Amino acid sequence: MSNGAKRFIKIFAKNYKQYKGPGSYSANGVPVLCVHCHHDKFDLGHAQLNTALFTFFNLDFANRSASTLTCGRCGFIHWFKKGIERVY
Ligand SMILES: [Zn+2]
Repeated sequence: MSNGAKRFIKIFAKNYKQYKGPGSYSANGVPVLCVHCHHDKFDLGHAQLNTALFTFFNLDFANRSASTLTCGRCGFIHWFKKGIERVY
């Protein structure tokens, strides 16, 4: 198995373990509300912002990940580059 595949499975397993169902979150101390419908329950997700090109040139320091909060009501996806905390 390639390192890339191992890494993918590791990330997947980590995210799977962290999943606790929809919840309320705050970012930088401010409660997150859906910008579209003002709902306050979200599904947390993670998205890699890295590219295969960076990895190919061994520039993994350039790789970044972002957190996504998907609104439990309308499905609007909110992206956060900084940490978000689960409130409830
Ligand atoms: Zn919404």
